[in-house]
Amino acid sequence: MQELILAVDLGGTNVRVAAVNLKGGILHKISFPTEASRGREKVVEDTLAKIKGFLGGFPREEFEVMGGGFGIPGAIMLDRGIVSQSPNLPGWEGFEILSRLQEGLRMPIFIENDANAYTLGERWLGSARGVRDFCCLTLGTGVGGGIVLNGDIWHGAEGKAGEIGHMVIDVDGPPCQCGNRGCLEAFASGSAIRRMAIEAIKGNEKTDLVDRCGGETEGITAKTVYESARGGDRLSREIFQRMGMYLGVGLANLANLLNVELMVVGGQVSEAWDLFIDPARRELEKRALGSMGKRVKVEKARCGDDAGILGAAYLVKRKLERRKG
Ligand SMILES: [Zn+2]
Repeated sequence: MQELILAVDLGGTNVRVAAVNLKGGILHKISFPTEASRGREKVVEDTLAKIKGFLGGFPREEFEVMGGGFGIPGAIMLDRGIVSQSPNLPGWEGFEILSRLQEGLRMPIFIENDANAYTLGERWLGSARGVRDFCCLTLGTGVGGGIVLNGDIWHGAEGKAGEIGHMVIDVDGPPCQCGNRGCLEAFASGSAIRRMAIEAIKGNEKTDLVDRCGGETEGITAKTVYESARGGDRLSREIFQRMGMYLGVGLANLANLLNVELMVVGGQVSEAWDLFIDPARRELEKRALGSMGKRVKVEKARCGDDAGILGAAYLVKRKLERRKG
């Protein structure tokens, strides 16, 4: 009999479902669109039906499903299993998601915020293996994060801790999605890279970026800026350096606040690692107090797109281990 964990990354755009063994090996995974606009009932019904179909591929004579772990975007009141806030899943506020999943799947279920699940994935099998105190940042369309202190996620008073992306870096900085100004997300995300490129072009700075996008600044994305930088475009390279500098300010703040051993940086934008990491490290060393900036390691995330799934599986695995010993 093989022991299995059901791992689900319930994102605002896609739902990813995987069967993970106790060593973190992914046996099989599927993904389908969330279509969040259909409303939570429809999304949950559909997700449960797809999960049941998926588990049907693992016959009971051969496999024992030990439980299910779910990563969910937004703030979660873990003690009550309720989603308290979720910008990416409209209408989910107040949803008793935990009991709904338990009833639907009839197995032990564990839920966690998706960025925290990503962080746990990196702790289980990625760059932060066995590290007691660290932060994890995901640089995607926005900037997400998770904080691990004493080996466990730091949830804070309302389960909303770890919003590293909304740490203010510049009080007069550009507007952020959250309504505030000058957040780290407004400088170090994919959207920020796009914005910085468009602003620079409007300021008539020389670049081959516009040609790359068919003459229209509208077509510029973080990816085209990345490709242009790889092709040697000076402006695009400068944008990644500027982004790295701001990221470094954020890392220095985290180092000063938490004195962690390690900061893991992941997400799509981290693919541009060598384009931004030197200015980030320089800024971190310059701004962190005393030895903290020198001591703290900054590493690229290792689990890639699977970090969220693996972290969701780890929620179950951890529970099993605690039960044993
Ligand atoms: Zn913000």
